Amino acid sequence: RKQQVETRSVLKVLILGDGGVGKTCIMGRFINDQFEDNSFHTIGVEFLNKDFALTGKNYTLQIWDTAGQERFKSLRTPFYRGTDICLLVFALDDKSSFSNLSLWRQEFLHYADIQDPQNFPFIVVGNKVDLGQSSRTVNPEEIKQWCCYHGNPPYYETSAKTDVNIAEVFKESVQQWIKRE
Ligand code: GDP
Ligand code: MG
Repeated sequence: RKQQVETRSVLKVLILGDGGVGKTCIMGRFINDQFEDNSFHTIGVEFLNKDFALTGKNYTLQIWDTAGQERFKSLRTPFYRGTDICLLVFALDDKSSFSNLSLWRQEFLHYADIQDPQNFPFIVVGNKVDLGQSSRTVNPEEIKQWCCYHGNPPYYETSAKTDVNIAEVFKESVQQWIKRE
C-alpha cells in the first residue's frame, strides 16, 4: 500500500498585548469558534494547536497566549523564543493599550532575539470593534502612523465577541510568514 506522506509546517504564533484587550478571547474564537465571557485561562497550558490549510498546504498553528502574566511583565525568553509570527493586540476603546504597543514590540524583539525587526511578520490587531465609534479612543490615523513607523505590518480591526476578522488575522499571519520564507 502506498504511504501518504503529509507535510505540515508548524508555526508558533504569539499573541501579545496588555491585559484585558481580548487576547484569550481571540484565541478562543479562533480555536473553538466560541466567545467565552469570563475567558478561560490557559493555566498550565503553554499553547494550543489549530490545524489550518491554505492554498493546498497544511499548517499547524501553535498559538501561545499568556495566562495573565502580562500584568506583571514576567514573560521572558522561553515564551518568546522561536516565534514565527507575532500578533500585537490592543483594544480600540483603550488608548493606553495602544500606547503600550511599542513596548510590547520592543520587548518581543529583545527576548525573541529577532535580527531583522523590519522584516519580522507582525500583525497589528485593534480588537473590540463591535463596541462601535462612540467607545473608540484610538483613531485610524494614529494607527496608520504607528504602522508606517514600524515596518508597515498589516492591520486588522477585529471582534472576538461578534467574530469579525478573527480567521482573517490568522490567515494573514500565515501569508506573511510564507512571503518571508
Ligand atoms: P486578555 O487579558 O487580553 O486575554 O483579554 P480577555 O480575552 O480575557 O478579555 C478581556 C475582557 O474583554 C473580557 O471581559 C472579554 O469578555 C472582553 N472582550 C474580549 N474580546 C472582546 C471583543 O471583541 N469585544 C468586546 N466587546 N469585548 C471583548
Ligand atoms: Mg488572557
